[in-house]
Order: sequence, then C-alpha cells, then structure tokens
Amino acid sequence: MTDDGAMADALARLEDLRAGAIATISGTDSSAGLEEARIRFTGKKSDLTAIMRVMGTLSPEDRKTLGAAANSVKGAIEQALESRGAELRARELEDRLERERLDVTLPGTPYAIGYRHPAMRTMRELIRIFEQMGYSVYEGPEVEWDLYNFQLLNFPPDHPSRDLQDTFYVTDDMLLRTQTSPGQLRIMKEQRPPIRSIVPGMVYRDEAEDATHLSEFFQIEGLAVDTNITLGDLKGTLTEVVQRFFGRERGVRFRPHYFPFTEPSAEIDISCFACGGAGCRSCGGEGWLELGGAGMVHPVVLQNGGIDPDEYSGFAFGIGPDRFTMMRGHITDVRLLRHGDLRFLRQFN
Ligand SMILES: [Zn+2]
Repeated sequence: MTDDGAMADALARLEDLRAGAIATISGTDSSAGLEEARIRFTGKKSDLTAIMRVMGTLSPEDRKTLGAAANSVKGAIEQALESRGAELRARELEDRLERERLDVTLPGTPYAIGYRHPAMRTMRELIRIFEQMGYSVYEGPEVEWDLYNFQLLNFPPDHPSRDLQDTFYVTDDMLLRTQTSPGQLRIMKEQRPPIRSIVPGMVYRDEAEDATHLSEFFQIEGLAVDTNITLGDLKGTLTEVVQRFFGRERGVRFRPHYFPFTEPSAEIDISCFACGGAGCRSCGGEGWLELGGAGMVHPVVLQNGGIDPDEYSGFAFGIGPDRFTMMRGHITDVRLLRHGDLRFLRQFN
C-alpha cells in the first residue's frame, strides 16, 4: 500500500528543511549558536527525524527514494554546519588576535627600581667624605676577640669601663664587637704611619631598645697617626666632616669625657638642627646634640699597636651615622631605621 500524498508531502518538507536549515546555519554568528542549530536540525528531536516517521507508511521503493533524499538533506545540513563552523572559528581567532595584539609602541610597564636605605645612604656619604679627605677604608670583623675589643684598647679585664657595655659574648674571649675601635689596633698592626683610616660598620650592644638606643647600630671609627698630630687636627677634621654633611652653618663642640683608649677624651656635639644652638625641644634645651666620642690616642694603645708614642701621636674618633641620618631626616625614633617599614622608608626616596 502506498500513499502518494504522504510521499510528496515528505519530499516537500525535506526540501523546505534543507533550505531553512542552510539559511539558519549560514546566518548563525557564534559557535554556541551553531551548536544549537546542529541539535535542532540533526538531533533525535529534529524535524528530519519527524519527517522520517512517515517511512512506515511507504512502499519499499518510495522508502528508498525518501531515504536517499533524507540522507542528501542531512549531508547538506552537516556540510553547512561544518563550513560555517570553520568560518566562525577563523573569525573568533582573528578577533582574539586583534584583541590581544601586543602593541610594541605603547609605553612599557614601569619596573620598580629600588633605592638605598637612608641609613646606608648616610654611611656611603660619610665614607665618601672621608675618602675625599684622604682616608682609606678598613673593614674589621664583627665577631671580634675580647683582646682587640677591650684589652689592647686599654680596658684591662677588671676595668670598670667594661661594665658600662653589656656585650654579646660568643665565647669567654670572643664577642660581637661593641665598637669599631678594635679596628684601630688592626690598622696599626698592618700599617705604618702616616695613617689615615676609617672603620665603618655595625656594632652590637645588649641594649633595651628605645627611641634613641638600638642593640645593633652603625659606627664609623677614625684613626690618624703621624708626627705632630694634635687635638686641633681632630677638631678641624670632625668639623669639616660635619659641615660637609650637614652644611656650613653647623657648629661642633667638644665636651671633656673619659675613654680608656684616648687621653684626653671628649664627646663631640653638633649644634641643634632645629634651633641652631639656642636650645629647643629637639635638643632638650641644650642647643647641642651628641654625635660621638673622640680623643688623642692613648700612648698605651699606640704601643699595643706597635707604634712608638715618643715619635708619633694620633687622634681617634667614633661617630654614630644613625644619628646623622636621624638629624638630617628629622627622625625622632631610631628604631624606624631598622624595622623595614616601607611606608616610612619611601619618604626618603
Ligand atoms: Zn635645639
């Protein structure tokens, strides 16, 4: 039994389907839309499947004809999907290349270049000033013998001055240097006068840290040994260093003091940066701020360094570069210089 009407109707619907599907597919604008079209036109619930249901009512010959027509439509739809898919993929790739194109004419991403810590800048600047004045740089060890740190500097083992410095001992006769002064002995043992040397570096003391005290801090030791070195040379040298660093308006004052390794000894003060010497809150009303200690090298220390005190004299000083940094940067708490807080440090860039 055949149904010519049903057959003709099925063929017509197939042709409509082919035309409609191809139009839809070629008008599809995205990979996602194309996938929807594929399901709609070739899936199990597609019109193609619906049209083929008529197969059961057809003669074997018509079935063959309709089957061939359906395969042709299906093939045409698949080909349309394939070629539109290729077009869309190509276009999407092109869009992406356009979007992500590297424009080499644009300015580059800025690269953050670091800068020196303010304490290191002070160290380097002071070292440069001394070098310009003819001083060589000597670097002594931070782990030092008690012999060099105290004994050869005229601190006998039971000398009361040794109680003034709470010290980090490594062993009974080895410690973290409490001062750069042992450098004086090391220099005298290696060099002959005339000597003009500085020893910059870190020193260590067992301090309860506060706004003006650190347990590790910078020091620069200075030593000059020659014939006829006087206290006037010492004062002139330190005044020159201070004025080169802070400016010519700064004054330097010596206050009598006691150190075992210098005689006479003095503490060095600099006129207050805030009041210029009149006295204000920054300097506690004194008009002066302490910068370090100095004096004429004790004859015993010269002897310990193998230098004849009858022929030569010398001066020595120890200054605190952290104080220089604080004074110049108007820093009121020295701990800020060691805590690595970038919000603080960036102010000095
Ligand atoms: Zn002042």
